[in-house]
Amino acid sequence: MSFSDLGLRSELLRAVEEQGYTVPTPIQRQAIPAVLKGEDLLASAQTGTGKTAGFTLPLLQRLADGPRPKARQIRALVLTPTRELAAQIGENVTGYGRHLKLTSKVIFGGVGQQPQVDAIRPGLDILVATPGRLLDLHQQRHIDLSQIETLVLDEADRMLDMGFIHDIKKLLRLMPAKRQNLLFSATFSNEIQTLANQLLDKPTMIEVARRNTTAETVDQVIYKVDREKKRDLLAHLITEHQWYQVLVFTRTKHGANRLAEQLSKQNIPSMAIHGNKSQSARTKALAAFKSGDLQVLVATDIAARGLDINELPHVVNFELPNVAEDYVHRIGRTGRAGSEGQAVSLVCVDEHGLLKGIERLIKRDLEKRIESGFEPDPNAKPEPIENGRGKSGGRGGNGRGGSGRNGGANSSSNGRGDNGQRRQGDDARAPRRRARRPQQA
Ligand code: AMP
Repeated sequence: MSFSDLGLRSELLRAVEEQGYTVPTPIQRQAIPAVLKGEDLLASAQTGTGKTAGFTLPLLQRLADGPRPKARQIRALVLTPTRELAAQIGENVTGYGRHLKLTSKVIFGGVGQQPQVDAIRPGLDILVATPGRLLDLHQQRHIDLSQIETLVLDEADRMLDMGFIHDIKKLLRLMPAKRQNLLFSATFSNEIQTLANQLLDKPTMIEVARRNTTAETVDQVIYKVDREKKRDLLAHLITEHQWYQVLVFTRTKHGANRLAEQLSKQNIPSMAIHGNKSQSARTKALAAFKSGDLQVLVATDIAARGLDINELPHVVNFELPNVAEDYVHRIGRTGRAGSEGQAVSLVCVDEHGLLKGIERLIKRDLEKRIESGFEPDPNAKPEPIENGRGKSGGRGGNGRGGSGRNGGANSSSNGRGDNGQRRQGDDARAPRRRARRPQQA
């Protein structure tokens, strides 16, 4: 099957061809005809499956077929959890829509509001936004959602995880009842199911195999190493194997900063990306990394979520995540769209429980290696994991689906007491995740 079999108009086929795509991915084959027909959609798919083109292409076509927006009118809204994902979807919209005369804008928190207000005022065909900033703009009467024809909720599970459900509900009340709704989610918790039931009208259901459970294009390796030797081992692996583009995950923002500094001192150009960094610093680091100027990008889970970096050759878990599912999301950054990749995890004695949880979730034992010169001390005693949640044994992932992601919280978080932090930007507002992982971005 080719893209032209899907009923797309010539301007879109041209843009797709210019991107170098020849064959639609499974989600594109299923989603494009359904969205073109105006149907609601419930799609189980994560980043890396080609889902963005799956909704963007037919959305552009439907908008191009209809009348232009009137003053202040917004015709389609794409809601996403993070700024980076919003920016990426915005790039996709611009790229696929380059031969059509449609207008689009991306808005998110953490950057000046006035240029966004100015861009929205005349009306837009497509607005891509994170929920917090959108609601802020609505409360200041800068935005009118009463004419929305199509709503896309992308990475809906992440939005709920990040505590956006109330914002989403408020936004839904501002839209007309009759509209097309497309909901994308990697996991299907009861909460997502409830949202889908409220939102969708006889949806077309699409389920694309989770890349993570198969992940056959990702070579996954564990290096057993002492806690204190992880940094030297990472520098050694990068230098020894001449890894030129490495995304490294740490558990905390502080850890990300420290590691990026230390690697840079060892002549391995590195930058950190996390929720405390300004938007311009994050954009700059990501651009340098994507272009190949920056060898190592050190990220926390939330900062890295949804990052679209093509054919990323190496992902390193400097520390294993506390939630087994995050391992799967992390390694999803490599070996994408059929290209090969390697995911390397540096595991110390504190993390054996987390590793077991991950292996249970992905239903396979991972290959363990010991690098010569970095042999772990067989008598090393496990220590509590840095974020104060107690020892890792048995806590790391338990094979649950998305619905169990918030289990085991033991913090004194006061739920949605995040108003004071609103100005940090949308993805700094993660009350539920914070409840579990206080120091995470
Ligand atoms: P997404 O799941 O939307 O984040 O897309 C994942 C990656 O796949 C992106 O880098 C896209 O550029 C790429 N991609 C999307 N559709 C296709 C296709 N039909 N053929 C090859 N690559 C694609």
